[in-house]
Amino acid sequence: MKKTVLREYARLIVRSGVNVQKGQEVIVYADLDQPEFVAMVVDEAYKAKAKKVTVEWDYQPLEKLHSRYQSVSTMGKVEDWVAARQEHYCQVLPCRIHLISEDPDGLKGVRTDKIAKARQMRYPILKPYLERRENREQWCIAAVPGVAWAKKLFPELSRNQAVEKLWEAILYTSRVDADPVKAWEEHNARLKARCDYLNSLRIASLHYRADNGTDLTVGMMPEGRFCGGGEKSLQGIFFNPNIPTEECFVSPKRGLAEGIVYATKPLSYQGQLIENFYIRFEKGRAVEAVAEKGQEALTTMISMDEGAAYLGECALVPEDSPIAQSGILFYNTLFDENAACHLALGNGYADTIDNFENRTLEECRALGLNDSMIHVDFMIGCKTMDIDAITEDGKTVPIFRKGTWAF
Ligand code: ZN
Ligand code: ZN
Repeated sequence: MKKTVLREYARLIVRSGVNVQKGQEVIVYADLDQPEFVAMVVDEAYKAKAKKVTVEWDYQPLEKLHSRYQSVSTMGKVEDWVAARQEHYCQVLPCRIHLISEDPDGLKGVRTDKIAKARQMRYPILKPYLERRENREQWCIAAVPGVAWAKKLFPELSRNQAVEKLWEAILYTSRVDADPVKAWEEHNARLKARCDYLNSLRIASLHYRADNGTDLTVGMMPEGRFCGGGEKSLQGIFFNPNIPTEECFVSPKRGLAEGIVYATKPLSYQGQLIENFYIRFEKGRAVEAVAEKGQEALTTMISMDEGAAYLGECALVPEDSPIAQSGILFYNTLFDENAACHLALGNGYADTIDNFENRTLEECRALGLNDSMIHVDFMIGCKTMDIDAITEDGKTVPIFRKGTWAF
């Protein structure tokens, strides 16, 4: 890919993505796949007057080795210096940039039970730090091609060709064109107009139907509101958490989901693929979850904690989004979730609650916001999906018809 185009993309992530402010610290999380691009991002962050940029490198094969050779208690321990670093981040509030490129099933064959157990051990210790930072820091998830990921999408191409093709797909769907920053401003304005309309309806519940058997009703909190595109941190800094993003999303009310929903795309969860699955909800809880492939990962995911079996997000994405139009199945949630309506199991987003700035997290949870260590999106949208809103005054308003906006 041309260096000038990649430079535009790096600038988009730094300026429109996390929106680095003068004197802020930045952490970049990246795999080893695109070191030159990572250096461009770091350079752009310094040009935006970041005080210090730290890169944390990851490499999937190492994760496999650690999970094979370390004991659960070693993996699950939060060392004092790790906690001290978390405390430091709570004070400093660095911008976080996640550049994802991992193989969608690169952790196939690892001991999922061990990884899950270790995560369950670490989470209660890390949770207070995460909660203190929630909505206060700017963050952005964007993607760069990894070889294994690219080959999974385009197996017929050579390694170099596959990576190039994945770059093209990432840049196209991320609106990296002549003036990406402007394209993103316009895109955000369109998403916001959709959200404003949805919020004006005062939706009590959403009813999803599709010819694959999906028939699900999800209840909303009266205080809930649809959000989309960029958002403002509690420090008042505007940022775009996902590049790309096409969704208008809301956190539903815990305990109010009835019916069955079929996934329409594979889900990569912790390096394992879950395919052709359905989930049945009763009183908000996933009481049955069956997958043709990846059953163990699905079962583990839903039983990570009490809240993992409840919904944390309902997101509306039309079937004609640029990602859907690309016709590519990315096997990566950042992209696939922006090509189809999706739900998330696990944690809800406090910033989808009206006036969340003046409410504590406990108050938001008391209103019905779900609490969990996981937040996993899974795709349910398809070309036959119809969605109706039942409003607080009992009216039925069409929201989606045949997989796309009805208004
Ligand atoms: Zn979403
Ligand atoms: Zn989500």
